[in-house]
Amino acid sequence: MSQSNPNLIPPGGTIGIIGGGQLGRMTALAAANLGYRSHIFCPQEASPGRQVATTATTADYTDSAALAAFADSVDVVTFEFENIPHESVRLLAEHVPVRPHWQCLHVAQDRLREKDFLIATGAVTAAYRAVASPDELESALQEIGRPAVLKSARFGYDGKGQVKIGPETDIPAAWIEMGSDLGILEAFVDFQMEISVVLARGVDGACAAFDPVENRHKNHILDVTIAPAAISPALADEAKALAIKIANALDFVGLLAVEMFVTSDGHLLINEIAPRPHNSGHWTIDACRTSQFEQFVRAVCGLPLGSPERDFDAVMTNLIGDDVESWPELIAEEGACLHLYGKDEARAGRKMGHVTRLTPKGSTPKASS
Ligand code: AMP
Repeated sequence: MSQSNPNLIPPGGTIGIIGGGQLGRMTALAAANLGYRSHIFCPQEASPGRQVATTATTADYTDSAALAAFADSVDVVTFEFENIPHESVRLLAEHVPVRPHWQCLHVAQDRLREKDFLIATGAVTAAYRAVASPDELESALQEIGRPAVLKSARFGYDGKGQVKIGPETDIPAAWIEMGSDLGILEAFVDFQMEISVVLARGVDGACAAFDPVENRHKNHILDVTIAPAAISPALADEAKALAIKIANALDFVGLLAVEMFVTSDGHLLINEIAPRPHNSGHWTIDACRTSQFEQFVRAVCGLPLGSPERDFDAVMTNLIGDDVESWPELIAEEGACLHLYGKDEARAGRKMGHVTRLTPKGSTPKASS
């Protein structure tokens, strides 16, 4: 690796991270391990990320003066949070390399744009229609059929702005529940399993994908991730190849998570993508040669990617809200790898930490075909 490589940010440099949540925190910790400084930009005065970052800016994501000053103080900018105006990201890009580039964020921010993009890359998704009014919802339901899932096109996460439409669901009420905004109606997928692939893609286009994992949700929030997913080696390879194809189509640099459904007849449908570290990749901190956060730092700094090889099977359990009160038992549990995010208030639905339990590689039940 040559020091004259224009894409390289060598150790000692500063990584600007947009967003100050736990993903920013774990990224800043990984950056520090490789000798980088981190500068977090987020609107909150108190945040898990800034507790461990070298520097922080407290400002709104639309504050152009603060964004420009931030960009001038760092060597590269990335995100741990994607719901920031893409105009702000373009502004940052006028001052400093932004990885991944703003178009990736633009695609992932809007479920309709995202689905259209996925279809254009040749990926298969659930059938969907754009809906802009209760009348359009009515006619989309005629085409898609019930059950279906109505989602707001923007700013949805952890099931927010999402309504399942069953045989009896009242359409105007569902429209209001979704947020009366531009929406997307999706066919309900009768899945046997939800999986995700987290991968890094470097500035040079090299990709390193972690093994596909199974994700189980509770109240629409990720509850447990099981690594590896109990799917056949052929399906695991297909899932990785699909994720890499999407990353290549985006000319992505950084960390990308691709969420998929395994249908009841064993096919893969893409649900959504996240252009940042992902909750379903937290197990890699304790189970892999290189964690998702280190890969992320390597990718955005133009370093060679590390090995995504998995040394253990793992089960990652999120500590949501009051779950965190079990920390005294978890910290005393032999072999449990506890990660706490430094959040003061354990509100319902808030991700307070996670615990990863490792078992020897190969001990998780496998699918045979
Ligand atoms: P999302 O915000 O799109 O990731 O959706 C959150 C969760 O809702 C997913 O992880 C699934 O468990 C469920 N879900 C989303 N879309 C569908 C769908 N089309 N069919 C069935 N379940 C879905």
